[in-house]
Amino acid sequence: MIRIGIDIGGTGIQVGVVSEDYAILSEGSIPTRKDLPFEEQVRQIADCVMSTTAASGYSIDEIESVGVGIPGIASKSGEIIKCTNMGWSHVPFREVFSRYLDKPVYIDNDANVAALAESVIGNSAGTSSSVFITIGTGIGSGIILNGKIWSGAHHIGGELGHVIFDLDGVPCTCGNHGCLERYCSATALIRMAREAVREHPDSMMLSLAGQDPARIEAKTVIDAARAGDALAVSVYGRYTDFLAQAVASVINLLDPEIIVLGGGVSKAGDFLLNPVLQKYPRYVLFNDQLLTPVKLAVLGSEAGIIGAAMLS
Ligand SMILES: [Zn+2]
Repeated sequence: MIRIGIDIGGTGIQVGVVSEDYAILSEGSIPTRKDLPFEEQVRQIADCVMSTTAASGYSIDEIESVGVGIPGIASKSGEIIKCTNMGWSHVPFREVFSRYLDKPVYIDNDANVAALAESVIGNSAGTSSSVFITIGTGIGSGIILNGKIWSGAHHIGGELGHVIFDLDGVPCTCGNHGCLERYCSATALIRMAREAVREHPDSMMLSLAGQDPARIEAKTVIDAARAGDALAVSVYGRYTDFLAQAVASVINLLDPEIIVLGGGVSKAGDFLLNPVLQKYPRYVLFNDQLLTPVKLAVLGSEAGIIGAAMLS
């Protein structure tokens, strides 16, 4: 038997045929078309599932289930409650999808499914509780308790990125101010660097960006900090302080067995992990106890497909 994992993203929708031992057998993708009516979007996704399954050499009959990871929230009944990237609000995804393919369909948040994948075959494998934090344009997070996704009593939990750090802080895309992701995401690191170079135009960050602050990326800051540029070291130090506070907040609230960091910024590897490991204990209340392991994610972008296929 095989399972289908679907990863719905802002620019593209990835479909994967996943084996019983969680290997991706074949992959397909279609562009995200927010402009199309909902029924047509679902039909195109179902078409992609059919063609990707055919490419794997398996038949439709051998599909056990279909899992969907969305940048949004869904109910257990298969209704997608909110998925802004697709322009979906209270849409009956499972019902419409089953017109094309009559298989069990499970839907969950994309960070939650990535957390699930890491907890089964990634760096949190073998633990019963873990928190996965994905550090990219925003901050996503997924909580695994007793081997299962915990998305809360109303499916709206696990949103670490919108825990408020500073009531009068930086405006967030969600409409509030001072959300954690405004300080811990790649976007935050870029903003902090662009602000800093205004006062210090001699920074290596600016020369790496061709003297154009708009071209400073997260990698620019990390590269300059690695090279020892004083301003980059200072900006990056402040950034890893915020990240350490985020990790400590998770520990103070949930005390999971392990915390896993993924997403684009985690590609910095030990250069990200080491300062976080060094700094977070000072923000943990009971820090004379055994310290919580923090590790980097081992699954890359395929975590979205594999984790979605694991949904049941
Ligand atoms: Zn927010």
